[in-house]
Amino acid sequence: MSKKRVLFASSEVYPFVKTGGLADVSHSLPRALSETFNVTVILPLYRQIDAERYEIVPVRSKETISLGGNDYETELYGCTYEGIEYRFVYTPVLCEREYLYGPPECGYEDNALRFALFCRFVASLALEEAFDVVHLNDWQCGLGALYLNEASKRPKTVFTIHNLAYQGIVDPGVLPQIGVDSGYFTMEGIEYYGNVNLMKAGIAYADNVTTVSPTYAKEILTPEFGCGLEGFLYAHRNKLSGIVNGIDLEHFNPASDGALIEPYKTYNGKKKNKSAFLSSVGLKGVNDPLFAFIGRLTWQKGIDLLIETIESMGTMKCNVILLGEGEKEYAEKLRYVAKEYTNIVVIEQYDESLSHRLYAAADFLLMPSLYEPCGLNQMIAFSYGAIPIVHHTGGLVDTVKRLETFDPEKKSGYGITFKKASAETFMRAFKTAMELYDDKERLRSLAKHNMECDFSWESSAKKYGTIYRKRQS
Ligand code: ADP
Repeated sequence: MSKKRVLFASSEVYPFVKTGGLADVSHSLPRALSETFNVTVILPLYRQIDAERYEIVPVRSKETISLGGNDYETELYGCTYEGIEYRFVYTPVLCEREYLYGPPECGYEDNALRFALFCRFVASLALEEAFDVVHLNDWQCGLGALYLNEASKRPKTVFTIHNLAYQGIVDPGVLPQIGVDSGYFTMEGIEYYGNVNLMKAGIAYADNVTTVSPTYAKEILTPEFGCGLEGFLYAHRNKLSGIVNGIDLEHFNPASDGALIEPYKTYNGKKKNKSAFLSSVGLKGVNDPLFAFIGRLTWQKGIDLLIETIESMGTMKCNVILLGEGEKEYAEKLRYVAKEYTNIVVIEQYDESLSHRLYAAADFLLMPSLYEPCGLNQMIAFSYGAIPIVHHTGGLVDTVKRLETFDPEKKSGYGITFKKASAETFMRAFKTAMELYDDKERLRSLAKHNMECDFSWESSAKKYGTIYRKRQS
């Protein structure tokens, strides 16, 4: 029997272009799925993508997409990279921008049109080439479900919510431009407090909706985490499920990671990486615990908690290194504190190789996220033998078991968790880590255990497979 054909659409895919976890997932999930399915990944050909390096070439002649009465010249490109087929949609409005979605504080005003063009192309390709399944990710792909729903015979559609806080809310004046009939502008459709909500299009019109962890799937049905869509999601709960993300163990493997000073198979191998990293940023104290934060500088990631506590950390016998890019105000505050303390370093960059070296160097990874749909950092930390310190929320509940319950027989990753998001509880967790660091044997056995656990996509990819095979209702 031939494999089912899946078109996996995402607005960012590693290694071509990445701003966060969505790119990692869009890289690694299709690989895991390709064991069982014939998967093609499709994304925009942003100008940031190095077409030459990945040998991305046109695969069809230029064509015109008509949307809302306007014509847009579009071209489909493609490449095969590490055994996976990729397709790239090029049209200037979508691709010729400084940022993918807009500067850190706000999105581009014409994002609805930009991603509508992408979705329109995805939908046409799916129909023309008779794909069996179209997997759409986040608000950027939401309209894909709506466009496909208009076809009489169409592939099955699956929509995945990676972060409900970003919904693509735009002025309704855009409807004619994106070729969406005003009949959709209802509460059951894509209307949202007088605006258009592109995430709602995915939720309303896809056959199945998933999100990236079972706990987040429950949380988003509540006002605290539902970002205003809890009622809408509740109405669609029968088609909603949570599947935890995995990580690509080829890419995040300390034993073969070319970015590291010295790749390592065992926990002891971290030491060289730690001392090299510390000296590269001018820090001393290789025998003191090294705490790392790696992530976007946004409210979600608990940066306020970091700011509230970082001066106390500055007075302790430890080192703290923060690697992140994001909101200016956060960056300025952190930079200011870093200047005052000789054991704190802030690196304001987005640098994949540097992040790998930091995971390898760190004893602990700080993850005080206020909410976290799944989170990948904690799993990467496990693989590299860094113990995560996490707020007990969303996917962190599903992937990080409490240190106090450590059972070497259980194949789960263990870390330090805190329940309420406050400076006090976070600091308590931090102090627990300082104590754990002094108990070298315990620390080593814990890290060793985590390094040996399996955070691959295997079991989660099977769950997606089951959804792909489900009949359309
Ligand atoms: P989110 O998608 O919310 O940003 P995730 O935990 O799902 O968070 O994924 C974050 C991914 O981005 C991880 O692979 C992490 O290592 C990476 N990352 C975040 N910030 C940086 C940075 N400044 N430099 C390099 N990699 C980063």
